[in-house]
Amino acid sequence: MALDELDELYREAILSHVRDPRNHCVVPDAQVTGESVNPFCGDEISLQLRLDESGRVARIGLQGKGCSINRAAGSIMSEAIRGRSLDEIEELSDLFRGMMRSTEAAPDEWARLGELEVLSGVTRFPVRIKCALLPWSALDDGIDEYRRGRDREALPGEPSPPS
Ligand code: ZN
Repeated sequence: MALDELDELYREAILSHVRDPRNHCVVPDAQVTGESVNPFCGDEISLQLRLDESGRVARIGLQGKGCSINRAAGSIMSEAIRGRSLDEIEELSDLFRGMMRSTEAAPDEWARLGELEVLSGVTRFPVRIKCALLPWSALDDGIDEYRRGRDREALPGEPSPPS
C-alpha cells in the first residue's frame, strides 16, 4: 500500500506523525516496557511508560522502526494513552483492534477513538493492519508483564485465606 491511496485528510495527519514522531525518546526508570516485531515488513516498536501515583501514564517513550504506518500508529498511540490508567488503555486497545478488523465500522464509531481515527483508512489494506496494531501489541504485552510482576510482589504479603 502506498500512502497516496489514503484519503488526503488522513494522509496528511499520518505524514505529520511520520515526519515528527511524538514522544520519540527513551524514558528512564519505566515501570512498563514492551517490544514488538513484525518480520513481514521489518517493523519494530519499543516503548516505556512511567506511571504517576494514581497509576496513570505520566510519561511515555516510544521508538519505532519500519514502515510509515507502523511509525505513525506508534506516534498516534503515544499521544492517545497519556494520562490514562492501564484499565482505560486496555479498553481503548480492544476498541481500536475491533475497529481495525471491522470492515463495516461507521464513521461515528471511529470518531469515538479521537485521533486514532486517522488510521481508519488502513482497514482497506488488510496487509497493513498488522503494522498499525504492532505498537498496541507492544503496549498490551508490556502491561501484562507489569501486572504479572505486581502479582508476584503482592503474593508474600497477602494474608492467607481463612481455612
Ligand atoms: Zn509495516
